Amino acid sequence: MDEIKKELFYEQKNGYDLIGTDERIKMENYSAAYMSYLNDARTEREAVKLAIELAEAKGFKEYKVGSELKPGDRIYRNNRGKALMLAVIGEKCLCEGAVIAGAHVDAPRIDLKQKPLYETDELAYFKTHYYGGIKKYQWVTIPLELHGVVALKNGELVDIAIGRDADDPQFVITDLLPHLAKDQVSKTMAEGITGEGLNILIGSAPYAGEGSDRVKLAVMSILNDRYGICEEDFLSAELTAVPAFDVREIGLDRSLIGGYGHDDRVCAFAELQAMFDMDEVPSKTCVCLLADKEEIGSMGVSGMQSQAFECFMEDLCEQQGASLRRCFENSFCISADVNNAFDPNFPEVSEKRNEAKLNYGVGICKFTGARGKSGTSDASAEVVAHLRRIFADNSVVWQMCELGKVDQGGGGTIAQYMANRNIDTIDAGVPVLSMHAPFEVVSKFDCYMTYKAVLSAYNEKY
Ligand code: MN
Ligand code: MN
Repeated sequence: MDEIKKELFYEQKNGYDLIGTDERIKMENYSAAYMSYLNDARTEREAVKLAIELAEAKGFKEYKVGSELKPGDRIYRNNRGKALMLAVIGEKCLCEGAVIAGAHVDAPRIDLKQKPLYETDELAYFKTHYYGGIKKYQWVTIPLELHGVVALKNGELVDIAIGRDADDPQFVITDLLPHLAKDQVSKTMAEGITGEGLNILIGSAPYAGEGSDRVKLAVMSILNDRYGICEEDFLSAELTAVPAFDVREIGLDRSLIGGYGHDDRVCAFAELQAMFDMDEVPSKTCVCLLADKEEIGSMGVSGMQSQAFECFMEDLCEQQGASLRRCFENSFCISADVNNAFDPNFPEVSEKRNEAKLNYGVGICKFTGARGKSGTSDASAEVVAHLRRIFADNSVVWQMCELGKVDQGGGGTIAQYMANRNIDTIDAGVPVLSMHAPFEVVSKFDCYMTYKAVLSAYNEKY
């Protein structure tokens, strides 16, 4: 009976039972490179900047519109410093389609308001407006760093990063002491900490002399000394507070990685590394997308709903006399985004048979969405089969999954926007514990398998 069971049943194994020492060494090396990237990429702008540095070291060049393209050329386009598109030109014409992998490099965070700075009770604060889906109570009493840019009237862009260097100061949002929290703790978790309560403490020492707002003045003069900015410049700034935690190995066995922004820089890095390691001349043109604004609906010029993608692809198509719509029709896209890992601390939200498990490999979601599959592009059975074959041929360990129990909640990715372009698209990514928290957890094994998954799609002989 065991024989026939083996033949007829679908069984999954823990990924560690499926790989040998060679793969484990590769997994560790890959994880170390990813951890270093994540540690330095605290915002979408930094993620793009760092990706360009890595890509240029691997021979990628900024594409000049109208310049000729030949198979093997490695190019990129920087979309306003917040999103990035890279391509390796394939042997076949773009009219036969491209192989696309798209991830996002924005992550939930605490943005400063445009008029952020104020003093109250002789303490200075920044007002904030959170970005993306956060559980607000998680963002108080943790060390924060300040990152971003200030665009000056004269066109100059001032980069700001405070808190990353060991001798930099850091920031914090305070919380109420338990001794006086009788009213607070009886509120719901959604109400215990409010959006307008997320004010960042930035100083307490007054400017010497007499008068009002001396702490605010002292803080502003420090910013002026260091960055040459005045209060009005905040109006045209994009400043954000992000968790100050270093990326660290987690667990006695060091099998996990803890850090801020795994969603979705973990898939962004998998795509990037796959771009760097793929065959010199792929069969179809391979495209890597690092998008912005996914966490707030993929809107705007740097989000995946933007025509910036059409613009880039059309430029490439023009060089080959290919039509963009034929290219899209024949393309295949992996929407590389994280999914939920089953958490034994919260089994009640999951349906175990269909939830991703840590160390079971890259998670494939045929569909995302909420309730009756609302708001999903739902990849076709044929597309899933196509991936099954590629993964089987390349020893990619993977699992099929969906986000929690039916009617428990839901979510979406850039997949729907790619599919709306008439591109066959499927979601694939790394399962995460504590998604959207200031410190998220992923498994090294799943990170490595996501990289292998994208690499095998790029290298496929179409
Ligand atoms: Mn995501
Ligand atoms: Mn997300």
